Amino acid sequence: MKTNRILVTGGCGFIGSALVRELVAKQYRVTVLDALTYAGVQENLVGVASPEQLDVVVGNIGDAELVQQMFNEHSFSAVFHLAAETHVDRSISNANPFITTNVLGTYTLLAATLRCWQQMHSEAQRTFRFIQVSTDEVFGTLGPTGCFTEDSPYAPRSPYAASKASADHLAAALHHTFGLPVITTYCGNNYGPRQHPEKFISLIIKRALSESAIPVYGSGENVRDWVHVDDHANGLIAALERGTAGSTYCLGARNELTNLEVLRSVCAALDELRPRSGGGKYEELATFVEDRLGHDWRYALDPSKAARELGFSAKHTLQTSISQVVRSYVENRS
Ligand code: NAD
Repeated sequence: MKTNRILVTGGCGFIGSALVRELVAKQYRVTVLDALTYAGVQENLVGVASPEQLDVVVGNIGDAELVQQMFNEHSFSAVFHLAAETHVDRSISNANPFITTNVLGTYTLLAATLRCWQQMHSEAQRTFRFIQVSTDEVFGTLGPTGCFTEDSPYAPRSPYAASKASADHLAAALHHTFGLPVITTYCGNNYGPRQHPEKFISLIIKRALSESAIPVYGSGENVRDWVHVDDHANGLIAALERGTAGSTYCLGARNELTNLEVLRSVCAALDELRPRSGGGKYEELATFVEDRLGHDWRYALDPSKAARELGFSAKHTLQTSISQVVRSYVENRS
């Protein structure tokens, strides 16, 4: 077992819990800090391979005293920062929680990390990493061709994306000003088990199984780069183990699909696994609704640098893994 303990914020959420599973399976000892908002549940960590390697602290990244106390108690060798408000639609209705958690909360966490890091001996300082888990959305939108790279300029266009961009800038600023070893990763739309049903794929499954309308924004032609959550988790661990402090990495899967293509794949998998009782295809439940305000047209990430420097490559495509993902929801509806 690895001796040092790693802090994972947001470890009871969708991606955080997948990351914790992988870390524990790789013999890391992990402490989760999670406020258990509407988006996080401790049940997401049920079945972790070696539960004795895992501690969960229920608390807020914006609680400076708690964060400082946790750093004093454990000499964390790394922080994976995933805690965030994450749903774009919610950020359009009310951006306040996004500013509180994603901007102010991230700064509180960074400031505590910096204080702790400054007190470490030089070898621990050298190997320490703060992994800032970001999104392709900070780069804005693409036209029909091309990909975002690590050199793309920031151009966030939703309140969510702007709050994540702020967090990235604060993390980068502490690297440049004080030398805090920050690595920032960008990822596309994740899918996999345990995602909150407000997100597109889990929403399709939930609505389909209850025979309700499945909302599709606009024409359904918006394109996203779909990344299996386990590929993302492995990319984050590769960034910890092989990434260079101060660097940024695009963890893309080269798996671009329109929302309509995703809908069709999910519905086809459901048709196989749980045919509709009254006959017909689940896809017939799709209902086009007014487009999201400011809806970005297309995102795609070029993972070449992550492949070269981290050995990262996505093992899944949505087309080949969707049946298994859909099965996990059908079998675990709660
Ligand atoms: P999620 O909404 O499923 O989980 C977020 C977790 O953070 C929840 O467990 C929640 O309780 C916790 N949390 C929220 N506010 C907190 C606070 N103030 N203090 C402590 N914990 C708090 O999100 P996710 O989809 O797992 O995303 C995780 C991270 O990955 C986020 O930073 C997100 O921006 C980033 N990301 C997500 C995607 C995606 O497709 N889901 C893609 C790229 C990057």
